[in-house]
Amino acid sequence: MRQSNLLLTTLREAPAEAETASHGLLLRAGYIRQLAAGIYSYLPLGRRVLHKLENIVREEMDKAGAQEVLLPAMQPAELWQESGRFGVYGRELITLQDRHDREFVLGPTHEEVITTLVRNEINSYRKLPVTLYQIQTKFRDERRPRSGLMRGREFLMKDAYSFDNGWESLDQSYQTMFNAYHRIFERCGLIFRAVEADSGAIGGEGGSHEFMALADIGEDTVAACTACNYAANLEQAESAKTSEQVVKVVADLPAMEKFHTPDLRSIEQLTTVGLQSQEIIKTLIYSGGGKVFAVLVRGDHEVNEIKVKKAVGAEEIKLVDYEAVQSTAGTESGFIGPVGLLIPLLVDAELAAMAHGVAGAGEVDYHLRYVVPGRDFSLDQVGDFRNVEEGDSCPRCGTGQLKFHLGIEIGHVFKLGTKYSEKLGARYLDPSGKNTDMIMGCYGIGISRLLAAVVEQNHDDHGISWPAALAPFQVHILLMSVKDEVQRTAAENLYTVLSKQGLEVLLDDRDERPGVKFKDAELIGLPFTVVIGKGAAEGQVELIERKVLTKESMGLEEAILRIR
Ligand code: ATP
Ligand code: MG
Ligand code: MG
Ligand code: MG
Repeated sequence: MRQSNLLLTTLREAPAEAETASHGLLLRAGYIRQLAAGIYSYLPLGRRVLHKLENIVREEMDKAGAQEVLLPAMQPAELWQESGRFGVYGRELITLQDRHDREFVLGPTHEEVITTLVRNEINSYRKLPVTLYQIQTKFRDERRPRSGLMRGREFLMKDAYSFDNGWESLDQSYQTMFNAYHRIFERCGLIFRAVEADSGAIGGEGGSHEFMALADIGEDTVAACTACNYAANLEQAESAKTSEQVVKVVADLPAMEKFHTPDLRSIEQLTTVGLQSQEIIKTLIYSGGGKVFAVLVRGDHEVNEIKVKKAVGAEEIKLVDYEAVQSTAGTESGFIGPVGLLIPLLVDAELAAMAHGVAGAGEVDYHLRYVVPGRDFSLDQVGDFRNVEEGDSCPRCGTGQLKFHLGIEIGHVFKLGTKYSEKLGARYLDPSGKNTDMIMGCYGIGISRLLAAVVEQNHDDHGISWPAALAPFQVHILLMSVKDEVQRTAAENLYTVLSKQGLEVLLDDRDERPGVKFKDAELIGLPFTVVIGKGAAEGQVELIERKVLTKESMGLEEAILRIR
């Protein structure tokens, strides 16, 4: 590509709205342009990087046995009513009407659509398991779009969905995706951690992992052990600590009747026997002072709602939208917000506790019946449960300490269970001929956010410094003087040779001063720059590696060898 033909304008200064390095650099180096808050155009350079990311993701998904599909972005609202998410998804959901006043949503995610598709295509265990994925534009009306591609309102996501015959099979599908995610982020050259995330609704321990690119502008906090491989997002670490402490207190209660609650995974079971220890505990925690309020954890609003209502036995309990709490309270602490904000949501705890005093028994699959918080134990006994601090001992190994890191959520894998298959009727005949709900998992990667995260980890004061696998071109040839015939010919020849070797080459053939060309090259950030200047007559060039920015003089042949 000749730069004189390329749609590219670099900016001297980062626009005032740029909040992070990646945001500023992607604007300055001419990769993206903002159309409206959280809505961006990709210029040729940006589009090329996006293609590289998409291809890595596609290759790894295909290798993992997933099949690519492309689903509509425009989805009938009825589907969302059927799944029960229409009312609870919140204001991030963008809705619109067609000319017949039929309501639609612009997909923020595609569980409804994919489940409907699979419901009609698969009816026997013989066709399971199957994992389907797509790379597609998503729409979320984020309350605070920020940092350019990092939190867009229109953004590119890879989303995959697995359908399995049973939980063990889901465990395998999940692990396959988990491994593929590792390969994808390694190929992107990222420093990242897979962390335990709140499994929210269904799914026991290990039911959800987030992939975090470590960066000091990250919005999430990761608590990682210095000794073992425990790493969790802070929200999850806090909820685990809460559980642990309440379980200890409650398990010591003498007069309580213990009962067995074997597999609490399906919604029917959850609503008849109760909740898993962790969810109960969260509910009980809020039962202090004669009042109960329940606040949703992130994610499966619908299932949480059923569970919490059942647990406190109060049909009229209100649930708080997690995102709303988070942004109003300005805290990432998950299910906890300043009490003042939650006052309208308080309901009578006495009633609730009497109706369903069920609590974790400190043992897997066991609960205690008729626990009344306040009567049977006081919240003082639980202590300051929310506070997980840096330096705390690791909940897994006990020997290491927790260290905090900031991270950008670039991917999320999640065991869904039967939430959508049940609601939308995605059933199949199992080997014994029984009609059964499919067991689902879902797996997302924010491809456009990934692009920003890579820049966040790969830049310096002069600009972006792309890992070779993602650079829009691998080589930048800077022709110092376009009027010099010898230089011109040398540059053109090199351009041809490198292109023939299969490298992607950008030739700066603009009639600009050398200073301008150097500055732009550093800003754009291709891995190698070859400078063709006065030495061209003697077959000499200068080679600059973007990572180190040192200039080395050498013969043309040597430069070609070095680049390969
Ligand atoms: P966040 O906590 O940052 O709001 P999320 O948990 O809502 O993200 P998921 O529903 O898990 O996001 O979506 C899967 C992936 O899509 C995320 O891991 C993230 O990489 C990406 N993503 C989510 N929201 C955005 C956005 N507004 N802009 C760009 N990428 C996003
Ligand atoms: Mg979100
Ligand atoms: Mg998240
Ligand atoms: Mg997520």
